[in-house]
Amino acid sequence: MHTEILKADREGILAAAAVLRRGGLVAMPTETVYGLAADGLNPEAVREIYRVKGRPQDNPLILHIASLDSLFPLVKTGPESERALRRLSGRFWPGPLTVVLPRSGLVPDVITAGGPTVAIRMPSHPVARALIEAAGRPIAAPSANLSGKPSPTTLRDVTDDLSGLVPAILDGGDCAVGVESTVIDLTRRPYDVLRPGGISREALSDALGEEVGDASRPRDGAPPRSPGMKYRHYAPATPLTGLVGSGEDSLRYLSSLPRAEAMAAVVFDEYREAAEALGYRVLAYGREADHDSHARLLFRTLRQADRLGADRIYIQISPERRGRGDAVFNRLSRSTGGDLVYLAGK
Ligand code: AMP
Ligand code: MG
Repeated sequence: MHTEILKADREGILAAAAVLRRGGLVAMPTETVYGLAADGLNPEAVREIYRVKGRPQDNPLILHIASLDSLFPLVKTGPESERALRRLSGRFWPGPLTVVLPRSGLVPDVITAGGPTVAIRMPSHPVARALIEAAGRPIAAPSANLSGKPSPTTLRDVTDDLSGLVPAILDGGDCAVGVESTVIDLTRRPYDVLRPGGISREALSDALGEEVGDASRPRDGAPPRSPGMKYRHYAPATPLTGLVGSGEDSLRYLSSLPRAEAMAAVVFDEYREAAEALGYRVLAYGREADHDSHARLLFRTLRQADRLGADRIYIQISPERRGRGDAVFNRLSRSTGGDLVYLAGK
């Protein structure tokens, strides 16, 4: 299949909307990561998303909307959940927050993986908004990576995965947030974060005036309430080891390892030169305390690191969970397949 790279001008957006309306797929930029978009009310089109990504059938999709009015036909709300929804949408929409609510009959089974709830988000990226408006319907859009790989946050990364597999990719440059949306469950109280992301749990609790729980780390044996969390995900092809602790502690760890020349290291900016001096092939993803930068650069840096041809990649990980630190930690525990070295006190 020929893949057209569309400029994100009026003409490109209208061309992309026409592809969506006839049941085709379009990779579109959002402020979180690139999404693989389809008409969310067309089950055939949505099934194509699963096929192209190689996505497990039981992993539901998020519907993207451009106005609050278009949410209500898709969900069932009560007085409590509507109050919570209005508080959250007033504060965080458009933006990187997804709400889970009981679904209405309008939502196809293939969106919810047959479940009774639906996940909905209003993105802030101007190109995503314009595309949803031009398509005139809710748009299903998981991250635009092939299943298991790091989510694409640049045109190059989305093209690497999807060129030849979809009719069109809209060029929106680099994604600003870099990790996916936070998913919050509004179907029961206390409300819980199912997946950490662009909006922190502290900010959600503050907006709701009550403590929001953390259900993103289910206890052993319990099935995850966010189905996507059970799969190996966000992983580079090269084995990846996470070093959790201060930059200084992880540098000491890196300096104790043999054969640095065949190894790559993703470090905080402050440690770039020291890691290079040890012989590592080095990439940096922001200053040690800058969790927004870690989030923004994480996935593109993992993909870059893969291209260095190293036998293993080490990555410095801040133990701080404030702000986007929580989402970065969550993604990296998945990317490493749990291969984390905790350095505190070592
Ligand atoms: P992705 O767009 O690739 O980030 O995937 C969307 C993720 O949203 C899924 O993997 C789920 O974890 C989550 N999600 C979507 N729909 C629901 C739902 N109805 N209930 C809980 N989580 C959901
Ligand atoms: Mg994804």
